[in-house]
Amino acid sequence: MASLFRKPIGTLGGVGPKKQQLFEKLGILSVGDLLRFYPRAYEDWSAPCKIADVPENTVRCIKARVETAHKPFVARTGTILLKIDVTDGDDFMTVTFFNQRYLFDKLKDGGEFLFYGTVKDTGIGYEMLSPAVSDITAAEIHPVYPQTAGLTTRQIEAAVRQAVKLLPEKTNDPIPQEILDEYNICSLDFAIRRIHFPEKMEDALKSRERLAFEEMLVLQLGMARLKGSTKKEKATLKITEDHTEEFFDLLPFEPTNAQKRAVSQCIDDMMNKSYPMNRLIQGDVGSGKTAVAAAVCYSAVKNGMQCAFMAPTEILATQHYQSLSTLLADSGISIELLTGSVTPAKKRVVYEALENGDIDIIIGTHALISEKVVFKALGLVITDEQHRFGVAQRSALISKGDSPHIMVMSATPIPRTLALMIFGDLELSVLDEMPPGRQKVDTYFIDGAKRTRAYRFLKKHIENGNQCYIVCPLVEQNLSELQSAEEYISKLKQTPLGEYNLALLHGKMKPKEKEAVMSDFVSGKTDILVSTTVIEVGVNVPNATIMMIENAERFGLSQLHQLRGRVGRGKDKSYCILVSDNCSDSTIERLGIMCKTNNGFEIADADLKMRGPGDFFGSRQHGLPELKIDDMSGMDILEQTQDAAKKILSSDPDLTQPGHGGLKFETERLFEKAGGEQLQ
Ligand code: ADP
Ligand code: MG
Repeated sequence: MASLFRKPIGTLGGVGPKKQQLFEKLGILSVGDLLRFYPRAYEDWSAPCKIADVPENTVRCIKARVETAHKPFVARTGTILLKIDVTDGDDFMTVTFFNQRYLFDKLKDGGEFLFYGTVKDTGIGYEMLSPAVSDITAAEIHPVYPQTAGLTTRQIEAAVRQAVKLLPEKTNDPIPQEILDEYNICSLDFAIRRIHFPEKMEDALKSRERLAFEEMLVLQLGMARLKGSTKKEKATLKITEDHTEEFFDLLPFEPTNAQKRAVSQCIDDMMNKSYPMNRLIQGDVGSGKTAVAAAVCYSAVKNGMQCAFMAPTEILATQHYQSLSTLLADSGISIELLTGSVTPAKKRVVYEALENGDIDIIIGTHALISEKVVFKALGLVITDEQHRFGVAQRSALISKGDSPHIMVMSATPIPRTLALMIFGDLELSVLDEMPPGRQKVDTYFIDGAKRTRAYRFLKKHIENGNQCYIVCPLVEQNLSELQSAEEYISKLKQTPLGEYNLALLHGKMKPKEKEAVMSDFVSGKTDILVSTTVIEVGVNVPNATIMMIENAERFGLSQLHQLRGRVGRGKDKSYCILVSDNCSDSTIERLGIMCKTNNGFEIADADLKMRGPGDFFGSRQHGLPELKIDDMSGMDILEQTQDAAKKILSSDPDLTQPGHGGLKFETERLFEKAGGEQLQ
């Protein structure tokens, strides 16, 4: 198949210079590219059904004979109408076409055709509006391709038909046979033909799975080769004795299975691998990542290591400090906090104690990177909310140890496919289970007309001693209708909620001001915090029970989920109110998902599907290749391909063995397209 990537698309029949340009717009330069341009859906024309059997609002293929083709006529609107009465032998149906006069010459009385569309029962008979029509020989499953203006899916299909014919008798498979067998996936030969022209819908599914597997595997191999160097350094500090059980006995609760699994994966990394741990702990808000970090720190400290835990803000660092201090209260482990606002005198004491090894765990902000911070034996570096740190900051902290173990915690549920793209060099532990008794945050979607009622609801909660957040998309008012936080708070003062303590928080405030506003909210002085999305990250105020979000349509689903995660953290029932006057289908669908589920991973997947990976994280800025099949939900291929990639690279790190030539080719092709770093 490799040679087809050198055969220009213009060599196919019917693809002249003009069409060639259109194909190029779709990223298709060669016949090989075309074969790797997969359908986004299918039209099943393979099993025509009876007129009366078509379920409402579903598209089906019907095989019918033309009874009467009425002469086309021009309607008052100028549209040319063509009406044809057809029958499937049992029922009659009127088929209407708009501005397709030429069909009159084709659809002759007595002729039999396939009509693909929806059937409507009008009460006086069946009706089908502007279906696709084909000869009865076309009774197959047809691919539907992403289109570009000027190039229809049928034209692409015709080109693909020719391309498939150019495939060799048996396409060489880049994936070695043992791997195909082990993961029970079909051959490339089958997949590349059947993804375009499946005989049965199962074929299409199997092919998609296979091609997704291949893409993921190729991506993993490419990433591993790019970042392979990190694995080559030796871990100097290791865990020789696992103290996890001891730590779990100290906990006031029973850890979830997901927590246990994540901890044991970390311990295994730090105990049995020759290179340092490099692991991402992904867990939705409230899944208990802190306890996992504490457990790992516990064993690390008991094995003579110091741990550093870096958080992006002072509030978060302080909260982590408090939680870890509580969790490790009876453990004899010494924990300190180091942030910008610690007094110089205190800092000096901390610096000295760190260097002596008197402090076991240091928690802090960027202050940890200061040159003055020197460790005696830094063995474990933990960073929270890592996407907020520059790589430079992380490595500055890491360089304070001698190849320390690294643990990254992310509270942003990222679809697995993206996590892999962004954190490709990290092993992954997912906390996919919530601690028991966690309450669901009830979520409602209202329009602006119900705002007054919503305020009454807020009032009730505040009277009850709880606190609320109101989030607006902008800081200052501009000409648009978006609710700005500043304007909003002044309007709010005129409502019955005006009598409470209101505070404003936004990103344009100085860090000190922000911290002051936040700490008033944390301490309960403020009843309602009107804010922009700056509160998004990790703040824990268990007493807050309502999250009201204005112009909810402006936010990504994952962002809404993060915001919602600020409530439902305490004992009181919590609510999220999404306010939007936008009634487009996509808004209704998106906000509907928020009302339906509290599962961050489900939401992230839906978000990814609706917005596409490019949009989701701006994948371009990560310089990562785009995946053609990004819809891999429900498949475990991330883990499978991770496994498979490991196996392949352990015996052949540079993919030089003859059996790995195809994978090497595909890896290079993928990264070349991304325009990213070159693989050697
Ligand atoms: P996050 O993953 O968002 O960082 P935290 O670690 O802050 O979550 O945990 C949220 C809350 O849940 C904390 O109050 C913590 O003590 C509690 N918690 C964690 N694990 C469990 C568990 N297994 N059972 C009960 N409560 C737990
Ligand atoms: Mg947390």
